[in-house]
Amino acid sequence: MKLQFLSLGSGSSGNCYYLGDGNYGILLDAGLPLRKIKKILKNYEIGLEQILAVFITHDHGDHIKGIGALGEKQGIPVYATSSVHEGIENGFYVKQKLYASRRIIEKGQSVCVGEFRVTAFEVPHDASDCVGYHVQYAHHSCVLATDLGRINETAGHYIRQANHLIIEANYDEEMLRQGRYPDFLKERITNGTGHLCNTETAEFLASNFSPHLKNIWLCHLSHENNRQEVAYEAVEKMFNQQGIRIGTDVNLTALRRTTPSELFELE
Ligand SMILES: [Zn+2]
Ligand SMILES: [Zn+2]
Repeated sequence: MKLQFLSLGSGSSGNCYYLGDGNYGILLDAGLPLRKIKKILKNYEIGLEQILAVFITHDHGDHIKGIGALGEKQGIPVYATSSVHEGIENGFYVKQKLYASRRIIEKGQSVCVGEFRVTAFEVPHDASDCVGYHVQYAHHSCVLATDLGRINETAGHYIRQANHLIIEANYDEEMLRQGRYPDFLKERITNGTGHLCNTETAEFLASNFSPHLKNIWLCHLSHENNRQEVAYEAVEKMFNQQGIRIGTDVNLTALRRTTPSELFELE
């Protein structure tokens, strides 16, 4: 069965990803305003009534801005761990609090919505709690691993199962080091509970490569400390060293931050 993937936005100005089969779909994070989500989906002839659920990774603003309206106005269930839901409630990013649309997901326990089987897994990040998602649909295995300071054992376990992988490549180490961020922020990004740099992602992907991995999308690229071609080339370089051929063995895309991607058809 065919599956489609779309990035509506990726990075600090808003993260939101769609996985769907043409009839139904789910969103992973909703860090864009509802009207924008609606508009982008509409461009691909996807209506909000086709969205079965939204799964939230964590309670930072760039991942949750749209959930109040999606949940309470549109009546779309919003799944997150209980700690993330608490963080959302106590935070100020979401004005419309969640009541009827609030759903709890536990790490390691799968939830089925329509034909999608979704499992949350722990990742290290400086939020109330943070998870990645493993989404299984027919024979497809999709993984989202974003906002993680390092690839811990659990994340590695799920990432290795992916046929289609959305993985963070937040910053280029040199650009961050020489950049204008204050030292405390640089420390926060690099200390293991912040974000993944291009090299960490590239090294992990190259040394754990398996022929069942078909698509890689590099996500959550920093505006200040990364560029699409820099992230892409970091992975390309490691892949070349391992004899992994981009375009033949695996497809690689560095996602744009504020412009939606094309609608990818997954085989
Ligand atoms: Zn975050
Ligand atoms: Zn983020």
